[in-house]
Amino acid sequence: MIFGLEYFTAAPYEPHWIGHLKVSPSLVLLVALWFFTVGAIVTVSSVILYKFPEKHRKLGVVITVFSILGGELVALIGGILAIAWKPNPAPSPIEKITRICLKCGRVLKEDGLSVRFCPYCGKNLEILTKKEKKES
Ligand SMILES: [Zn+2]
Repeated sequence: MIFGLEYFTAAPYEPHWIGHLKVSPSLVLLVALWFFTVGAIVTVSSVILYKFPEKHRKLGVVITVFSILGGELVALIGGILAIAWKPNPAPSPIEKITRICLKCGRVLKEDGLSVRFCPYCGKNLEILTKKEKKES
């Protein structure tokens, strides 16, 4: 993008000379617009990538392609890194609560909280509230 701005500021209305090559001002302007546009696309894509890292693959491809078109090496490296980036693995799900029957001592393999009676000895596993304890 800086490359594009450079062309903008250095584009007077007389022809440019690149070595022995005479270049028309309109071509210089066109090239400047090209580099500015490519630079802007790379910059905007990078900002979006920063805000939405989950879209790293699509945005990485956009950044890589436009950095190649614009000859931007640092953006090219950034685009490749964005494609290759692997987010931290999702935290492991909370382990199921296991319960042990107080009567027979066996471990209840299913979700301990959903089981009302011990499948081995038939003991009522419901947790008694304070009020229920007083009644019994
Ligand atoms: Zn039991």
